[in-house]
Amino acid sequence: MKVVTNPEEMRFLSRGERTRRGRLGLVPTMGALHDGHLSLVRTARSRSDVIAVSIFVNPTQFGPTEDFAKYPRNLESDCALLEREGVELVFAPPVDEMYPHGAVTWVVVEGMSDRLCGRSRPGHFRGVTTVVSKLFHIVEPDLAFFGQKDAAQVAIIKRMVRDLNLPVSIEVCPIVREPDGLALSSRNSYLTQDERKSALVLYRSLMRVQEEFAKGERDAAKLVESGKKELAQDPAVLQDYLEIVDPDSLEPEVTITKPVLVAVAAVLGKTRLIDNITLHP
Ligand code: AMP
Repeated sequence: MKVVTNPEEMRFLSRGERTRRGRLGLVPTMGALHDGHLSLVRTARSRSDVIAVSIFVNPTQFGPTEDFAKYPRNLESDCALLEREGVELVFAPPVDEMYPHGAVTWVVVEGMSDRLCGRSRPGHFRGVTTVVSKLFHIVEPDLAFFGQKDAAQVAIIKRMVRDLNLPVSIEVCPIVREPDGLALSSRNSYLTQDERKSALVLYRSLMRVQEEFAKGERDAAKLVESGKKELAQDPAVLQDYLEIVDPDSLEPEVTITKPVLVAVAAVLGKTRLIDNITLHP
């Protein structure tokens, strides 16, 4: 496994691997790897001939008061995990290699970037689409693997790829959860014991929506109300949003007649968590 920090060297090695071995799969991450990330790597293994994983805590997707500085970073143990998975290339650039002094160019998926997390985290998706398009240009993957955990991110990246004719196939992998239902996240490590217990309310609120849906409720507003009621059960949890939207456009739905995304975000202490499910009528 080669660990590369320089974009030009990465492109050189990545092109070489593609020529030698075939389809290259990229798994973009911010590190602090857990089983959710590793499930992406394993899916990438099954669908590609060579794998590159990027590890980059991207400053441009964090707001000025967010957790960029304290985001967990452990490159050494991440590399040990990836080596065990048989990953061929790791791209872990320093910030100034990705954003040289004076970088002022952005990739923006307009409209969609202001929905869901984009509303409470202005500029977040602009940072995501900019760094992901840079990674695509540096690594030149045939396939790129993303988790359904970040469902809005998936929709926005798919739209960017379509709109800009990027030659990469976006592959989406299911959410990996703890046995009790909590979605794995690098940010779960911030949670105190009490907050960890409270965090389950996100999943419970989604399950509540699913139950009502299974009973036949198709009115999105009523489903949202039942989910929010469940969220409100825990006073330690500050609701950000619980919405039912079209999974491709992220536009709110009124009546459910086709598959929809139920997405939730909440803050526990200083930790912001997200989760989602899809309802299939
Ligand atoms: P991150 O390091 O948080 O930026 O995540 C890197 C990739 O891993 C993204 O595509 C995430 O959607 C995905 N991911 C994070 N957590 C999970 C999870 N619990 N299950 C599946 N994929 C995940």
